[in-house]
Amino acid sequence: MQKEGQIKVSSENIFPIIKKWLYSDKDIFLREIVANACDAIKKYQSLCSIGEAENDGIKPRIEIIADKNAKTLTVTDNGIGMTADEVEKYITQIAFSGAEEFIEKYKDKSEDNAGIIGHFGLGFYSSYMVSESVEIETLSYQPNSQPVHWVSDGSTTYEITDGTRTQHGTSIIMHITEDEEEFLDKDKLRDLLLKYCHFMPYEIYLNPAEEEAVVTKDADGNEIKHDAKPVNNTTPLWLKAPRDCTDEEYKEFYVEAFHDFNEPLFWIHLNVDYPFNLKGILYFPKQTDKLQVMPGEIKLYSNQVYIADNIKEVVPEFLMLLKGVIDCPDIPLNVSRSFLQNDGEVAKISKHITKKVADKLSSMFKNDRETYEKYWDDIAPFIKFGCIKDEKFYDRVKDIILFKTISGEYKTFADCPKQGDKIFYVTDESVQAQYIDMFKANGLDAVLLTHTIDTHFISFLEYKESGTKLARIDSELGDALKSDEVTDDASNEKLKEIFKTALGDDKLEIQTEGLKVKETPAILLQNEYMRRMNDMNTLYGGIFGGSPEAKETLVINTTNDIIKTLPTLSEENRTLVCKHILDLATISQRKLTADELKDFVARSVEILGIIK
Ligand code: ADP
Ligand code: MG
Repeated sequence: MQKEGQIKVSSENIFPIIKKWLYSDKDIFLREIVANACDAIKKYQSLCSIGEAENDGIKPRIEIIADKNAKTLTVTDNGIGMTADEVEKYITQIAFSGAEEFIEKYKDKSEDNAGIIGHFGLGFYSSYMVSESVEIETLSYQPNSQPVHWVSDGSTTYEITDGTRTQHGTSIIMHITEDEEEFLDKDKLRDLLLKYCHFMPYEIYLNPAEEEAVVTKDADGNEIKHDAKPVNNTTPLWLKAPRDCTDEEYKEFYVEAFHDFNEPLFWIHLNVDYPFNLKGILYFPKQTDKLQVMPGEIKLYSNQVYIADNIKEVVPEFLMLLKGVIDCPDIPLNVSRSFLQNDGEVAKISKHITKKVADKLSSMFKNDRETYEKYWDDIAPFIKFGCIKDEKFYDRVKDIILFKTISGEYKTFADCPKQGDKIFYVTDESVQAQYIDMFKANGLDAVLLTHTIDTHFISFLEYKESGTKLARIDSELGDALKSDEVTDDASNEKLKEIFKTALGDDKLEIQTEGLKVKETPAILLQNEYMRRMNDMNTLYGGIFGGSPEAKETLVINTTNDIIKTLPTLSEENRTLVCKHILDLATISQRKLTADELKDFVARSVEILGIIK
């Protein structure tokens, strides 16, 4: 048999265009070819199971052989195979028309779309991204079939002749171009297989002939021949019923899938049959950075074939902080972003995953509060981020959000320590230590909100729970901190004058107050609103317009002995003492600037000199 044919496409030079467009994501050709091999095996098995094909009893297997001398990469399966008619139909007609459709769709788009196009997938023809010509050797499972050989160099002509295969199945032989010889490298191929084919359902062997040659010797010098190992794991844990999985298995699978050797905190096994099909495992990783939110990794699969990472249309954005695998056969392999965005099913999947995560957290909170509290610090950034991104998620979890107090307890929002309608919070335990001590000394409590995400979460919380205000512990004086001791207005005015003259700073507001804590001569307060604006500006590089001056108020404590004796000092000593008191109050709130520090040190030395 010999037949030459003309491929029916209207675009003449289709392949150079495809190569150019897909350039950024060439790797996927291997996934496409191996996925086709899987499909072919699966089809053969289903025919066997319904009695349409006779089972030959040979284990399903995919072999990938890179031959550096011949510059060929061959993917062989023992699946359904194709007759000559089928090769014509499926390869030259259907696959080509897919390619043509692709060009029609994307020819006018800018090159920025290359990443998106990568997900479009061109199935069989993606092999031309790396090959100057491709051969097919195939034999159909049907009795008395003739083996078929097909070859095309990627122009619009092809040739069909008699093939050489004796076992049903197909080999795709790719003649790799000079520029792409890296795809003949075994390590590179192994990496790609682990990325795209790690959990495919049939065993994949990479250069098995080499592998099988591996022989080691035992203690007695006897040779042990090792069977080649498949590259992939054909039965990933997500397929198993959750009740049959052990903690050990979950942890092992985590390492296998993410190469992360930090043990995950806990996990959620998703297993849905209705109204759509979805299986997967989501892991909550331990946060290694206490201040920043670490990005996670959600791998999406379709029937065990890897589609992509972190597809935000399927998995809500905030869940990307988790690590997980999701297998959703309803999502086609050759999926485009625009398909995902417009697909109602996909939106349902996303909602469902969110609900499952909220359910798991709630049941943990209800049934095992102790463990939940133990994990809280690690999962808090994730939950808060989720609330900000998705108000529905907030509604589901708002009663299980915890606030750690300065006395080390975990409280829900309802039980949070409040003064009137205010919750006081701490952003930095060491910097705000003086204020914390003052609170503790007066039997008051505040909550710790020390993570970067808290800056946003605080505003979010005020917006959602409009009856409550949050104020940083150094932003104002609650009544509970003030003493009942009465002082007369005239001496208060005098004190303010002394400080004003000594400090000579118009911008600084000065106020007197009798505090219960006598030891502190003065404290500095920062206006909550102005400070938040400043924090936002620091986070986002000043996009909120010119940075407003942080409005500071120096509160002079009239119950303090140094303050009481201040009016009796000489003018010169008053200046020393006032400046020093301001510096001490400032240190309790922030670092001194270089100039302030220089003055502070010089003044300290001067004060020491007075001691005789
Ligand atoms: P798709 O897989 O989406 O159908 P492809 O371009 O990947 O598109 O493949 C086109 C067709 O070629 C397949 O549907 C199948 O009929 C046939 N085919 C490709 N590879 C194989 C194979 N290894 N064994 C049998 N048939 C194959
Ligand atoms: Mg395919």
